[in-house]
Amino acid sequence: MVSRVIPVDPFDLVIFGGTGDLAQRKILPALFRRFCAGQWAEGAQLIGAARTSYDSVSFRKVVRESLLKFAAKQCKNGPALEAFLQRIDYVALDGSSKDGWAQLADKLKPERVRAFYFSVGPNLFGPLAERIEAHDLISPLTRIVVEKPFGHDLASAQALNATLAAHFSEKQIYRIDHYLGKETVQNLMAVRFGNMLFEPLWNSQYVDHIQITVAESVGIDGREEYYERAGAMRDMMQNHLMQLLCLIAMEPPAKFDPDSVRDEKLKVIRALDPVEPHHIVRGQFEDEDTGYRQIVGNPRSTTESYVALKAHVSNWRWAGTPFYLRTGKRLVARSSVINVMFKDAPHSIFGADAGRHANVLSIRLQPNEGITLKVTIKEPGPGGMRLVDVPLDMSFAEALGPENQDPPDAYERLVMDVIRGNQTLFMRGDEVEAAWAWTDPVIAGWQARGDVPKPYDSGSTGPGDAELLMKRDGRRWQGINP
Ligand code: NAD
Repeated sequence: MVSRVIPVDPFDLVIFGGTGDLAQRKILPALFRRFCAGQWAEGAQLIGAARTSYDSVSFRKVVRESLLKFAAKQCKNGPALEAFLQRIDYVALDGSSKDGWAQLADKLKPERVRAFYFSVGPNLFGPLAERIEAHDLISPLTRIVVEKPFGHDLASAQALNATLAAHFSEKQIYRIDHYLGKETVQNLMAVRFGNMLFEPLWNSQYVDHIQITVAESVGIDGREEYYERAGAMRDMMQNHLMQLLCLIAMEPPAKFDPDSVRDEKLKVIRALDPVEPHHIVRGQFEDEDTGYRQIVGNPRSTTESYVALKAHVSNWRWAGTPFYLRTGKRLVARSSVINVMFKDAPHSIFGADAGRHANVLSIRLQPNEGITLKVTIKEPGPGGMRLVDVPLDMSFAEALGPENQDPPDAYERLVMDVIRGNQTLFMRGDEVEAAWAWTDPVIAGWQARGDVPKPYDSGSTGPGDAELLMKRDGRRWQGINP
């Protein structure tokens, strides 16, 4: 089954911060793959813009090196690489001064979709937005893309929203949470709203609880300064885990259009109860010589590299079904998975020791994107009625054939959605603010209590208290498996 590739309209895509890590490692390889797939229309071009004084030839050299390192194999070994590089231009430009803007203006064509990707720190969002407007670069087809972190708390997120709103309408602003671009996340919506099977069971009557785990095996290398100010709550929980929770918990939108979907997500965030202090566990990884505190160079650091919490969505559908969320660095494996834990059947006709368990729907985001439903069947053979749990595996690679072994990277989908003008998978300003409004009191609470994160071993599943959080409720976390 080969998916159809529909070329997007011709575009000028300007990447501010085009020489940076994110652009070179993620955005450019993603765009290259879309180019190889034939999605770029004739004449579409990409313009890197950053402070380094490259010209287009020297910038292309840098991009070539990055693509050879980070791009998909089947693409970079073909003739497409040279053709792609010919579509790339560069302008040396300082986002906070006048230099370079006239040259950039000369390269843009009025009739094309015009996207400005702010792949720079949030301190430059305001200066860039001002200069884009001052140089008369906002056409009817202009969009801007901004990266996380979108604010450090509610006040700073509101300030960022106000800064952008002074120059662009909400319809022109694309706030990226790359988790929303993952194939499985979109599939979660397809599974929920495209089938009759799950939706009638998707409520507190049939779902015992939901677990959302985003475990990383890597630490914070290279991001020490940022991370020490942010911690797991701000870096992951407020955005990625919150977005996953919204997609799991939201009501079916009337249509699959940006505002219908985002209205429903917003209702979920607004229905979240404040988190009780004893429903939060914070942790910090330890290691013989490269523990968290050594890495950040602060022996008294109280920043969490792990957080687990129990959340409640107070509405008719979910009252009584807890959502357990956890995320951390330097854990036993890299694994992002949502487990929908169904209730047990009300009565076992096979007896208590027949070996059956409740159904679990696992939605794996990484690695090996796919969906598995654990069901109970009879153990094969003549040995009486013994039951086993087996997975019904909807691994996308297997289900969709060999050409889908390598699903598109989230950035491929998201950047093409920007060009298409589809905001469904991007966060709206009010959503981000609502997420901070829920997060801020959690952080203020532990700061007021002088809470110190619990140590956990590098390579473990996190602090023991996170197990207790579940155990107290008579539940257990599912394993963190690679
Ligand atoms: P980086 O430091 O590697 O790159 C920053 C880029 O901005 C460089 O190209 C630099 O030349 C440019 N720049 C800096 N000041 C400038 C100015 N005054 N005018 C014009 N250009 C200027 O940073 P990064 O890792 O690429 O991250 C960029 C943004 O994306 C940050 O806000 C970061 O938090 C966010 N982000 C990064 C990642 C990642 O994986 N790297 C992931 C998610 C979000």
